[in-house]
Amino acid sequence: MGRPGSCRPWRCLPHDFPPHQTVHGYFAHWEGDGIFDHLTGHWAVAPQSPPGRRPHQRAQRLPDRQPEQANFLDCTKVEADINTNSDRTDRDGLSTWDGGVLKNSVVATTCSWTWPVPGAKNDLREVDVPFNTHDVDFTNKPTSSCSNKYDIRSVGTHEAGHIFGLKDLGSEHDNLTMYQASDPCTKKCRILGKGDVLGLRSIN
Ligand SMILES: [Zn+2]
Repeated sequence: MGRPGSCRPWRCLPHDFPPHQTVHGYFAHWEGDGIFDHLTGHWAVAPQSPPGRRPHQRAQRLPDRQPEQANFLDCTKVEADINTNSDRTDRDGLSTWDGGVLKNSVVATTCSWTWPVPGAKNDLREVDVPFNTHDVDFTNKPTSSCSNKYDIRSVGTHEAGHIFGLKDLGSEHDNLTMYQASDPCTKKCRILGKGDVLGLRSIN
């Protein structure tokens, strides 16, 4: 993801990486409004849960969604400025999504750099989002034979929530996309739950 007006291509994630236009649009809107405060979120691997754990909860999720679009732009050698302990390092001024080594339990993480603006909300300077491609298997198409692979679009949607200013939620909110732990082999977090939407609407 790049900054508006200076768009950088994605790193060499799979070509079917989630569409960036939607995130970029929100990012531009957000940057224009300066709505983000400092945030750092980690998404940990959820404890193994029994199959069919949440069928009743899926019905609570909102059915509306944006049409999918994807255009692979190019490869880049820019990397997220986050080390193997999932901590931020010196930023390079470029917002980057990439794959690499993170803490074992972390599927992906979002780190942001903000700048105080007197009399206004903080200015977001950079957000980096690495996926733990060293320890975690990702898929774009979870199937019935899926085993311990994480839906990359679901993970991307959760991390995008951090970019917009949402924080991880505790166990009482495990039906929402911003729940702190992710489940493998499910696409349910590609869309938002009502609580996620209400959280976004509360940002002003
Ligand atoms: Zn998170």
